[in-house]
Amino acid sequence: MAGTILALAGGVGGAKLARGLADVLEPGRLTVAVNTGDDFEHMGLPISPDLDTVMYTLAGRANKETGWGVADETWSFMEAIGDLGGETWFRLGDRDLATHVMRRRILDAGKTLSEATDALAGALGIRHRIVPMSDRPVRTVVETDEGPLPFQDYFVRRRCEPRVAAFRFEGIEAAAPSPGLSAALSDPDLGAVVICPSNPYVSVAPIVGIPTVAEFIDARDVPVVAVSPIVGGRAVKGPAAKMMAELGAEISALGIAQHYGTRIDGLAIDEVDAGFAPDIEALGVAVRVAPTVMRSEEDSRTLARETLAFADGLR
Ligand code: GDP
Repeated sequence: MAGTILALAGGVGGAKLARGLADVLEPGRLTVAVNTGDDFEHMGLPISPDLDTVMYTLAGRANKETGWGVADETWSFMEAIGDLGGETWFRLGDRDLATHVMRRRILDAGKTLSEATDALAGALGIRHRIVPMSDRPVRTVVETDEGPLPFQDYFVRRRCEPRVAAFRFEGIEAAAPSPGLSAALSDPDLGAVVICPSNPYVSVAPIVGIPTVAEFIDARDVPVVAVSPIVGGRAVKGPAAKMMAELGAEISALGIAQHYGTRIDGLAIDEVDAGFAPDIEALGVAVRVAPTVMRSEEDSRTLARETLAFADGLR
């Protein structure tokens, strides 16, 4: 398809489709805008889990076993912290630590998160644009049956066990899109927006909840297509299905279509979910049935091509 592509991504699922898009599009044609609602500061270090997952995945350095961090990691730093009686609930491998120390130094020099991301991604040899959704802090708070929990406390420390009632994104009203996201939205050549198969509540909602992004989507003149993160009634990975159940949503590709509603023009669903197509189309959302589970880089490229062709057909 012609034009530039803006992909919105969280961590694992988002990164895998972003990798496919990066493999099939020349660098000048793709911007990946990444959720920063999961970001926090830990041991004095600025942690951006989704930016790092996207960055490591595009650089071919992601740790595929854990879904976060770097491949071939070692843990001497974490062991030493434990020996010293420090906090070990949030794990930072030795190689990953280097990323965080570098990001700290860049931010301390007065640069923005966008500039830090450019520098780190560039050093890892990534030629496509990876940008944070905003340079202003937005912090996801999970309202649970045990009270409000900062995202990483809910996700890592409490392993998503508390029951979810709602999500809040502190700072979102004042958050402007990052310069890279703004540029992608205002690019006269923009051909489509792709919402990657990321967690709709905690990865995509913060990005599309930034007021300027929400306004763009409401008034869009390019197709917005999403890929369902729910396949066969289950999340491929992570707590999306548990969250849907606790929020009273139907755990299916149809539930995803109902969640996004008129904010999307099309939804790519897995072959095993083909039976939902008529009900999704009845919502006014076009459907593309495709193999959506990405087990290999070839799977990511295939889904990227399918998604681009789908968007092209909706122009
Ligand atoms: P997180 O920040 O690491 O949780 O990452 P994301 O929000 O990007 O990804 C989590 C979502 O991605 C989950 O809802 C998964 O079901 C979905 N996901 C992960 N891998 C795949 C895949 O290969 N295909 C599809 N369709 N969804 C996936």
